[in-house]
Amino acid sequence: MIGTLPRETFLFKPLPTRVLFGAGTRASLGDEVRGAGITRALVLTTPHQRELGKEVAAGLGDLAAGLFDGAAMHTPTDVTETALSALKTLGADGLVSVGGGSTIGLGKALAARTDLTQVVLPTTYAGSEMTPILGETENGLKTTRSGPEIQPEVVIYDVDLTRSLPVGMSVTSGINAIAHAIEALYAPNGNPVMDALALEGIRALVGALPEIVADPGNAPARQSALYGAWLCGTCLGNVGMALHHKLCHTLGGTFGLPHAETHTVVLPHALAYNAPAVPDVVAALTPILGQDPALGLHDLARELGAPISLNALGLPAESIDHATDLALQARYPNPRPLERDAIRATLARAWVGEAPIRKDKT
Ligand code: NAD
Repeated sequence: MIGTLPRETFLFKPLPTRVLFGAGTRASLGDEVRGAGITRALVLTTPHQRELGKEVAAGLGDLAAGLFDGAAMHTPTDVTETALSALKTLGADGLVSVGGGSTIGLGKALAARTDLTQVVLPTTYAGSEMTPILGETENGLKTTRSGPEIQPEVVIYDVDLTRSLPVGMSVTSGINAIAHAIEALYAPNGNPVMDALALEGIRALVGALPEIVADPGNAPARQSALYGAWLCGTCLGNVGMALHHKLCHTLGGTFGLPHAETHTVVLPHALAYNAPAVPDVVAALTPILGQDPALGLHDLARELGAPISLNALGLPAESIDHATDLALQARYPNPRPLERDAIRATLARAWVGEAPIRKDKT
């Protein structure tokens, strides 16, 4: 056997993003922007992080063409169109995205339309910066596409930028990252390198999140969490995802549920659904998450004060059937066959916030 999981044959084709990691690394932003061939960057962020965006733009001096601070969750195409006309008016020839997945999503949407170079400073643990995937929303429908022009060219992880991430969001965003790694472990197109990164990423986040809850300013814990997020995001960018991501995509795109919180609630239940089909993955996760890793994740979220029910996130009970149907619409590889009744029962448990139950334990 090669690596932790039984993979006899595999393809390894890593994505080419340049990554700078550390505390205070944003001091190198100007050099990285210049090195990427950008002479006038449009700085992107959300309204909430406007001050940070202004600071980053000011730090860039002549290298900044301007600031667009209208990024929004699930990348609405009307926001992208507004940003695109700002980009043209300002004559920008590159993008600097400073923020979480929403800001990075806007940068990707602009790059998809212009092929401009992206330099990204992530401030959450969502992992979008390490992927060639873009999810966009138009008329209430979220669609996903992928391509080399979408993958950011440069990522600057500055641990200092994550210190302001509120504790609640640190937990849900961290569990969002763990979800990428867990689904990577049973991806049919996985490989031993991604398996190793996935387990290391989960280990780093599971260790760091309780320390961040106890002390949000804990620098080593913040460093460890961001390191874990990078590894988990790398997994998301390199291998295919399954039932968990499909459910969350549906719940976010169609029912407007918040991204990281939805991942946090669904992950233990999706893992419990798949666990009987992936005993090797369960065995690999046991040293990190306990004898029953799905239950371990549920307990982690509960103990850290994260939401544990879809009800609490605002999903109406009568939407469970519709969500089940949507999750079954497009077929995709999943370790356990997609069984309608069992998926509905999984969503129903997640809606209530009960502990997950594995099929082989009922
Ligand atoms: P987010 O980017 O929507 O951020 C949530 C809020 O927190 C925003 O108001 C943001 O400004 C604020 N915030 C972010 N970092 C902060 C910080 N350090 N301090 C204070 N406030 C901060 O949240 P997210 O979970 O990172 O991203 C969710 C979006 O990213 C979704 O649209 C999701 O679909 C997308 N996503 C895409 C991929 C991909 O590969 N395409 C991967 C993960 C997430």
